[in-house]
Amino acid sequence: MPYYPDEFKEYLKSKADIVAVISQFVPLKKMGRDYVACCPFHEEKNPSFHVRTDKQTFGCYACGAGSRNHSTVQSCDVYGFLKGILRCNLGEAIEWLANFLGEPLPVLDPEAKRKQDLRAKWIEYCERAAERFQQNLMNNKEALAYLYQRGFTMQDILLWKLGFGDDVDYDFRNTKDRIVFTLFDFHGNIISFTGRTMLPPNVLAEANKKLQAEGKMPIVKYLDRISIKPDDPYYKDHPYPEFDKGNHLFGMHIAKEFIRQWGEAVIVEGWTDVIKLHKYGVQNAVCTMGTALTEAQTKLLVRAGAKRVVSMRDGDEAGMKAIERDAKMLTSHGIQTFIIPMPEGLDPCDLCDNFEDEPDQLLRWMEKHRRTISQWRLERIHRETYDQIFYHQSEIAQLQQERMRKVIEVLSQVEDPVELDIYIRQASELFEVSYESIKARVDTYKHNQRHLIAG
Ligand SMILES: [Zn+2]
Repeated sequence: MPYYPDEFKEYLKSKADIVAVISQFVPLKKMGRDYVACCPFHEEKNPSFHVRTDKQTFGCYACGAGSRNHSTVQSCDVYGFLKGILRCNLGEAIEWLANFLGEPLPVLDPEAKRKQDLRAKWIEYCERAAERFQQNLMNNKEALAYLYQRGFTMQDILLWKLGFGDDVDYDFRNTKDRIVFTLFDFHGNIISFTGRTMLPPNVLAEANKKLQAEGKMPIVKYLDRISIKPDDPYYKDHPYPEFDKGNHLFGMHIAKEFIRQWGEAVIVEGWTDVIKLHKYGVQNAVCTMGTALTEAQTKLLVRAGAKRVVSMRDGDEAGMKAIERDAKMLTSHGIQTFIIPMPEGLDPCDLCDNFEDEPDQLLRWMEKHRRTISQWRLERIHRETYDQIFYHQSEIAQLQQERMRKVIEVLSQVEDPVELDIYIRQASELFEVSYESIKARVDTYKHNQRHLIAG
């Protein structure tokens, strides 16, 4: 597939009037400020096909063309229409549109062209593998039963292109005999796979204990594609020789539309968390695939239009550290961080299962448990020092001083005075210290810090 830079793709789209483009293929009838027609993607006598001029989008109410409910025509912009009507790939749709608008195609320098050709070849290679993995899964009763038993439906399997791995391709032989999660880039191109063992956690732990005792390598829960060493001749034909998960967010190709609309993203730890959350209406969920949030991933969130990010990391020590790291990264890009603390021992996937019978309750639960990062930090200090204070009443004065130092540090990072006032009130109640004394200490702390910076 010919590959053109995103800027060019967006430029053409901004130049094109979707009504003019669709009119080339379908006779449109004006209705208000929009247009209707009999749908070109299914047989019908009464028009269900709509074109919206304000949003420059199209859609069919009957067959779902222009939405993810449709099997092939899944995006509602001018490219989605062209790919569907011309049965072509994105590169060809761009060429058609450039020709239609009389815009010259960009000339690529040879190195850029070589890289783009490689990338296009890689995506095709991945798409073929994805199809095979899906076929494998459909023919594997045991793997299907495993997914059904874990609450995934055929719709989930098709939407997320879940599969079952084999060792046919050199790059993806790590997925052999594992459930395959397909990894998409920001635009929805397939770029890699991760294989998850089907062993239940307790069986896996038991097996690994045994392997360790025998001095053998343990079984890893998730395995990515193998990375190719630079001295491998195979390396030069790879656009992603060492696939870096840190450049992608799983689920982003679907979540980005919702993130743009809601201005908010939800970050979780794992693949299954994302799939389950989407199913329960949290369609702005993405995951970092087991890593801490990177700069590149944060930029993807910004690009998708996230102004707020809700972190739903695991409630263990590692999860809490990840939350703090995420918050630091997000703040540095102007994104506000919120936390939904996970109940002990549960991940978002389990949480969804708890709401199986009343899915809309999940959103209500999330709303109720949502906190700002400062609130979450205050509660954490309280929780972590509660026992100490309770059992060491004789040292209460000193312990109280110590924890108040932490509290003041958290509060001093809050810049907005109204917000700060709310947190001081909450801290006053939580730690049983007067509002005035906390306020005085925060003021002193802030004053000293300014002094330090100025000096
Ligand atoms: Zn239709």
